[in-house]
Amino acid sequence: MNNFGYLRAGDVAEAVRAGQAPAVRFLAGGTNLLDLIKYEVEQPAALIDINRLPLRTIEAHEGGLRLGALATNAETAYHPEIAQRYPLLSSTILAGASAQLRNAATNGGNLLQRTRCLYFYDPASPCNKRAPGSGCGALGGVNRGLAILGASSQCIATYPGDMAVALAALEARVQVSGPAGARTIALADFHRLPGDEPSRDNTLTPGELITAINLPDEDFSQHYTYLKIRDRLSYAFALVSVAVVLRLAADGIIAEARIALGGVAPKPWRVPAAEALLVGQRPSAEAFGAAASRLLAGAVGQGENDFKIELAHRAIVRACWQAAAGTPQSQTDKHIR
Ligand SMILES: Cc1cc2nc3c(=O)[nH]c(=O)nc-3n(C[C@H](O)[C@H](O)[C@H](O)COP(=O)(O)OP(=O)(O)OC[C@H]3O[C@@H](n4cnc5c(N)ncnc54)[C@H](O)[C@@H]3O)c2cc1C
Repeated sequence: MNNFGYLRAGDVAEAVRAGQAPAVRFLAGGTNLLDLIKYEVEQPAALIDINRLPLRTIEAHEGGLRLGALATNAETAYHPEIAQRYPLLSSTILAGASAQLRNAATNGGNLLQRTRCLYFYDPASPCNKRAPGSGCGALGGVNRGLAILGASSQCIATYPGDMAVALAALEARVQVSGPAGARTIALADFHRLPGDEPSRDNTLTPGELITAINLPDEDFSQHYTYLKIRDRLSYAFALVSVAVVLRLAADGIIAEARIALGGVAPKPWRVPAAEALLVGQRPSAEAFGAAASRLLAGAVGQGENDFKIELAHRAIVRACWQAAAGTPQSQTDKHIR
């Protein structure tokens, strides 16, 4: 058993101050962190409980919405304004985990959930993300669920979450408070590729606390979808997921397209050049196929996960059709038609 300290932070300043100590972790819903502690993947010196901080509000902000870091995934998905104005986000959150988990999981914690790579969860195995310099068991090992894009020779883990994939397509911004003050990070810059430092999943600096996630004032409520392909129809992480938002002109021509992939890379994966291929086009198999090929340019399998390249191509094309037709994937009837 590993002893650890516990502090219940009274305000953001106290949390940030305490968060600067070595090996401390913020505790939100605890649905990922406590598992990691039980598996001895994380061995924090202290937990800073942030649950009493006033960061649970969902409110109007610069024409868009500000989601408190401590609003739960359920509160966020079922918030009437999110369901109406940002249905992609509601749908994506509801594709994840289970009702019980979504009631406990918070928006901030969701962004920071860690990979589901088996080697990361097994302290007896080599894993450069968990124990820098120990090697990567997944290379040449069990890698069916792992990355085909953005990996390195040090790490092929994926970022497992759903919500961040929708937030990437919506171009959300993450608001943080830290020892150097407050700053805002574009979602695209929030998670990082492993390179030769896989232990760092994101661009937060020590002691930085997520306080909110800002959704811009944009309307993609007509043409959107979140298509999640997984081994079973619920309570499973994505093998491949695709968030698509489109803006169609009155004549049906695509005026704007955003496509983000989940389950295939260490971060939500967007390729602006692929999206640009769709602008000025009519929805068609050729246009969507070309965008999919561009998105997946450079994709590499590691053996067991080779199938993901073709699966992702097909999922992208299907998701684009669903978005164009305005018939998004239902997250309550999860059968894929
Ligand atoms: C069985 C199971 C199935 C799941 N399935 C899915 C799924 O299909 N899709 C999906 O997306 N997710 C899934 N999840 C993951 C789940 O969504 C996350 O565990 C959850 O969102 C994490 O939020 P939390 O508030 O519990 O975070 P915690 O566990 O409390 O924290 C996670 C990490 O974030 C840090 N942290 C938390 N809040 C902040 C903050 N405000 N600022 C800075 N750091 C912070 C913590 O220190 C910790 O490192 C699943 C989880 C389980 C256990």
